[in-house]
Amino acid sequence: MNIHEYQGKEIFRSYGVNVPEGKPVFSPEEAVKAAKDLAQDVIVVKAQIHAGGRGKAGGVKIAKSVDEVEIYAKELLGKVLVTKQTGPAGKKVNRLLIESGCNIDKELYLSLTVDRATAQIVMIGSEAGGMEIEEVAESAPEKIIKEYIDPFIGLTAFQARRMAFKLNMEAGLINKAAALMMNLYKVFVEKDCSLVEINPLVITKDKDVMALDAKLNFDDSALYRHADITALRDETEEDPKEREAALLGLNYVNLGGNVACMVNGAGLAMATVDIIKHYGGEPANFLDVGGQGSAEDDAKAFKIMTADGQAKGIFVNIFGGINKCDIIAEGIVEANKMLGLKIPIVVRLDGTNFKEGREILQKANIPNLIMVESMTEGAKKVVELVKNA
Ligand code: ADP
Ligand code: MG
Repeated sequence: MNIHEYQGKEIFRSYGVNVPEGKPVFSPEEAVKAAKDLAQDVIVVKAQIHAGGRGKAGGVKIAKSVDEVEIYAKELLGKVLVTKQTGPAGKKVNRLLIESGCNIDKELYLSLTVDRATAQIVMIGSEAGGMEIEEVAESAPEKIIKEYIDPFIGLTAFQARRMAFKLNMEAGLINKAAALMMNLYKVFVEKDCSLVEINPLVITKDKDVMALDAKLNFDDSALYRHADITALRDETEEDPKEREAALLGLNYVNLGGNVACMVNGAGLAMATVDIIKHYGGEPANFLDVGGQGSAEDDAKAFKIMTADGQAKGIFVNIFGGINKCDIIAEGIVEANKMLGLKIPIVVRLDGTNFKEGREILQKANIPNLIMVESMTEGAKKVVELVKNA
């Protein structure tokens, strides 16, 4: 789960991680009031969406007066912001953070995440902050500094200081920066984060260290023990189809192409997406029906997969195990009745009860449904049909 920058900063503040003073607002009037309360010469108006890259997309405005704050608030609220991370559809701005302007001397990068290869939390730092860190990692990997953290010992003070030294901080700032890192590690562990990222971490002109941005991701599997975090959820930021599927206990992932994939199991989902790509197609999404859905659930899955007309064809690729092919087949028939689908549906059923499943589909006699014997044949077929559609 993701949260907004201002919510992340509130968590930082409660852990003693230095952040600028600021307040979330939902209207220009609130923005003006917040700006007056801050009473600063420079005030920053920041669009709050669950995506980065706002600075370059015009979502972060520097205001020199309360009047300017009002102008920017009016401009940003309700605007659809398209950044490098939002995709072409962009995200609508419903909230702003009104924040004290910071006198920046230098922008750095600092994050904590889980490194799967070593099964450890890793702290990553770079002097090349404020920019696209992925690009820095690719073009100048020597500028990325890592500290792997022993899970039994936790982040040690010497590791934090070593990071600060390697970031070329001046002597007077080393302890301040190290303390910030120790607090950040505490946030990461205590809140069950999967990512905590500060980009930029700034050194101010008056020699302070401060988090100017805050990106926090939480491990969904641990949310049950963090009611405070769950309460921060902003459903308007989430893909409505992913939410609908989650409520049905299905895993739905939007991929942007035009071949919808209905599968069972994560491994088969990956393989299906790969094979469609291999034959020159673009998966629209995959929907993992998991182990024990009813025919009604499967029909609802079809509805989610085909909503909004993005998909031009469907590939049902099921290897029945716990779930049975006849139930899936009934779901397909049900979905067809319910939705009156016109786009081609290519179906490969194998595994438990595949004979019964195929019989059900044969009897249903759905004109736009094509049964295939294998995954390869199915992938080729659906890609071809979608191309000619
Ligand atoms: P994003 O990562 O979405 O672009 P940031 O919060 O990192 O958004 O802001 C982008 C840039 O705007 C920062 O790199 C910094 O230069 C500037 N900025 C952000 N907040 C402030 C602030 N409070 N004071 C001064 N400059 C800021
Ligand atoms: Mg940033």
